Amino acid sequence: MAVDVFDNIKNVAPKRVSVIGLAKSGIAAAQYFRSRGTVVFISDSCGRSQLDKVLSDNGLADVESEALTHSEKVLESDLIILSPGVCSDLDVLKKADKKGIPVWSEMELGFRVSNAPFLAVTGSSGKSTTVSLLGAVMKASGFNAVVAGNIGLPVISVTPELTDEKAVVVAEVSSFQLETIHNFKPKAAAVINLMKNHLDRYPSETEYYNAKKRIAMNLTNHEYLVLNMDDPILSKWADEFASQTKVVMFGLADNGKDCVYLSDKSIKYQFNGKTGIILEDVSAMKLGGKHNCINACAASAMALCGGADPDRIAEGLCSFGGLPHRLEYVADISGIKFYNDSKSTTAESIECAVSAFDSKIHLIAGGRDKGCDFSLIKDAILANVKSIVLIGEASQRMSSQFEGLAPVSKAKTLDEAIDIAFKNAQAGERVIFSPGCSSFDMFKNFEHRGEVFKDMVNALAKRKAAAQ
Ligand code: ADP
Repeated sequence: MAVDVFDNIKNVAPKRVSVIGLAKSGIAAAQYFRSRGTVVFISDSCGRSQLDKVLSDNGLADVESEALTHSEKVLESDLIILSPGVCSDLDVLKKADKKGIPVWSEMELGFRVSNAPFLAVTGSSGKSTTVSLLGAVMKASGFNAVVAGNIGLPVISVTPELTDEKAVVVAEVSSFQLETIHNFKPKAAAVINLMKNHLDRYPSETEYYNAKKRIAMNLTNHEYLVLNMDDPILSKWADEFASQTKVVMFGLADNGKDCVYLSDKSIKYQFNGKTGIILEDVSAMKLGGKHNCINACAASAMALCGGADPDRIAEGLCSFGGLPHRLEYVADISGIKFYNDSKSTTAESIECAVSAFDSKIHLIAGGRDKGCDFSLIKDAILANVKSIVLIGEASQRMSSQFEGLAPVSKAKTLDEAIDIAFKNAQAGERVIFSPGCSSFDMFKNFEHRGEVFKDMVNALAKRKAAAQ
């Protein structure tokens, strides 16, 4: 197969490489190849002046490039690196295939040049949290763990430097990156869950799930596949892959085989003939919510597969303080605790957020409508939410789906929504901003939305403190 031309890429650099898409991973790949003396060509669909700025900001101003198109010039290369943001069914890539030019994701490249093993995590939700937990666990277990990939740090910017024996790459992997892997073979691969998503990019749910399944395609009996036993499709994958690789499950019960599971308040394991307790009481973790207990089970299972001592996993699980914009604690104002969950862009994420604490939650939600079915989460709303304030383009449709579950009001701005929720709440209760929608109607992205929310809450806290 053509892709094997570069089996020796650690020692022999290709002469010419084209990079399609100049975001974080494309920049890192271009910089890597340049440092090895390879002639790089960059192709990006953005405008010329925008591309020139990115090139010069990243020390690539002298690299040959094209803007606004992906022309056949891309084919004048030995290898193409494709950014995850660019569709893998471009015409020029079909031509590359015919000409035998390999097309790799930057994940494949990072893996091929790495001496350190990979622990790779994919799934629809919980990837960033799980890789961060796993990184903390592997560090606590004495490994030199580097968390990279889709979480924001391109693997190729770290793997060439990882030379010590205790090094391990904890990689968050997206379905887009998996579309163009070939030899990628992590020591252990986890799929946390499968939910409807990215239907703007995939023709069907099945095709999206099949892209994720590629994470397991090269695994053998020397590696591990870690799957969520409570997900019906992933349970089927466990049967499907049982003869190909070692399968370890995680979830809400002991399945009698190798697994890590929640048992009452503890995380327990059965692995390689041993059983035991990883964490006595999950409330010792800084992360809250059942979904995070599941993520902790997934991270623990991956750590066991990666060679961590079961007795040292708890320390890592409890040290991790959480990522920004995921149920992030912001402030206590007059006994009311405010949380920023701006990363929430689906109905399921709202469900996670409102189910993470005891009831008495005042929810702020809304944004650009992605067409989620909010009626699916009505039980969680009914059980936990005392009032709802809606903002943004989706507010009308969400209000009809939430009607009758809790008092609903609409606000024109996020600031106004915070004021209404604060007035609705009493001491001892919580206000959670979990939009369940994308941010683009009012903000640049979910990070911007979360930062604005935090600034507004902190300003409210200051005003209240000054008034006392
Ligand atoms: P990702 O990197 O896959 O987008 P994150 O770790 O950033 O996932 O979490 C994003 C949101 O997904 C969280 O705020 C929460 O609402 C939801 N989530 C996290 N873990 C899980 C899980 N195990 N199951 C379902 N939803 C989850």
